[in-house]
Amino acid sequence: MLETDSGLGQLIVDAVRDRVARAQTTTQYRVPLVSSADAADPRFPALRQYVDPGHLTPEELLPGARSVVSFFVPFDRRVVESNAADPDAVAREWALAYIETNTLIKKITDHLIELLATQGVRGAAEPPTGNFEPAGLTSHWSHKSVAVIAGLGSFGLHHMIITEAGCAGRLGSVVIDGQLPVNPPRSVNRCLYLQDRSCGECLQRCPVSALSEDNQIDRHRCWNRILEAPGLPAGDQTPQVCGKCAIGPCSLESPV
Ligand code: SF4
Ligand code: SF4
Repeated sequence: MLETDSGLGQLIVDAVRDRVARAQTTTQYRVPLVSSADAADPRFPALRQYVDPGHLTPEELLPGARSVVSFFVPFDRRVVESNAADPDAVAREWALAYIETNTLIKKITDHLIELLATQGVRGAAEPPTGNFEPAGLTSHWSHKSVAVIAGLGSFGLHHMIITEAGCAGRLGSVVIDGQLPVNPPRSVNRCLYLQDRSCGECLQRCPVSALSEDNQIDRHRCWNRILEAPGLPAGDQTPQVCGKCAIGPCSLESPV
């Protein structure tokens, strides 16, 4: 987590927590997690190989970048329980949480950039969702991969990030040209299946078998399910959510 004995780190952690605590949303949240990475971490350019050839580096997002802030806004337990109630239909609470939290994350990043500007620090951010390439469904700025590099969590078999507060929530990140304490690279594996194969609940819960035991995800199968998930109103405003793989033992905490 982000060292709060650094003045800049404390400012950022306080700002994220304050915005989440005062969010005027129907969705309730737990305490957000904040972490940081060195913008020069060699794992950033490596994302071109592992995520998408067009994946941006922090320097490309913000010339002069020195640090990358990653944060996780965890949903309240009731949001998770709502989506666990039916094995197929997506709960409206879950869909609303997705929509409201994306808006909240945009507000948080905008606020951070404005706040840091008062300290002479520049910042830049990509939106919390929608920044993907439609053919391959890969992202040019993967908030999930950024979170791993920042030490916020690890990928689970469901291809989401399992943090200390679980995987049920949304991620955001901001590139800044201020120096933050660097968390040493950690190889914590928080997925029970990837640890010792003692789980696999996400595999069983996925309604379209988009996940597999060899740790692959069929992105198109997942995306098609997300576009047509039952339980939500049809139309242009239909939230693109599913989340049935995110309601297992790693939902609200790290099981490892
Ligand atoms: S549900 Fe189990 S197997 Fe799937 S990501 Fe979570 S811990 Fe891993
Ligand atoms: S979001 Fe839904 S369709 Fe995609 S992997 Fe998870 S459970 Fe399967």
